[in-house]
Amino acid sequence: MNFAKYSMKWLSDLIFPAKCVGCGEFPGGKFRGYLCGRCMASIKIKNSFECIGCKKSVPLGKTCYFCRDGNSIDQLLVAADYKDFKVEALLKAIKYRFIKDLILPAFILVKKYLKHFNLKKEADLFQGRPLVVPIPLHRARYNWRGFNQSEILAGLLADNFQMHTRSDIIVRIKKSKPQAEIEDREERMKNVESFFCVLRPEAVRGRTVLLVDDICTTGATLNEAAKVLKASGAKKVVGLVVAR
Ligand SMILES: [Zn+2]
Ligand SMILES: [Zn+2]
Repeated sequence: MNFAKYSMKWLSDLIFPAKCVGCGEFPGGKFRGYLCGRCMASIKIKNSFECIGCKKSVPLGKTCYFCRDGNSIDQLLVAADYKDFKVEALLKAIKYRFIKDLILPAFILVKKYLKHFNLKKEADLFQGRPLVVPIPLHRARYNWRGFNQSEILAGLLADNFQMHTRSDIIVRIKKSKPQAEIEDREERMKNVESFFCVLRPEAVRGRTVLLVDDICTTGATLNEAAKVLKASGAKKVVGLVVAR
């Protein structure tokens, strides 16, 4: 976060004290006042699993037979439902209001979910010591926000579950042709998209990678990252998100 933006945020925090993103009250205390204990406790953890491609219910979130061809993610784990307005408000406040203090409650949801998930013995996620990799932001976006919420989530996850995390494995690069050079509109649209590039293939070769992000919508981002990781030799790629 640059200085001007930091000062603006500091000033607005001073004028408008933190309110709970869920109920709009001034609770004080928890998560610096941005989320009250009651709202936090009322967020339900998911206990069903869905395929990343067709969203149909599948055992343990494993990508279904029909979606395996077009989806590089092998398994998808989703901690909470984005349709819960408190979850949506929480994640939006991190992303667009730069409220870093809300990453902790987002992580707590993931932690609760994983503890519940791990009770099912056959789904032991931590078998084979997966490498925790956050979905990177494009550098320009990182400089604008000042932090990557997925990277912080990945760090908390690795600390809490004794796993190894690295944020230097993949980078996000913008397709760089100057827009004016492209005549076709559809091509122009494609040109502004970013793509992933693996910087450390030796670190993922033969390993299970746990890809961490805040939100999964269509699954395109996770799949794109999983695709390049697998091309670099990753054995299995599991997507883990706070909400979908
Ligand atoms: Zn509240
Ligand atoms: Zn499917």
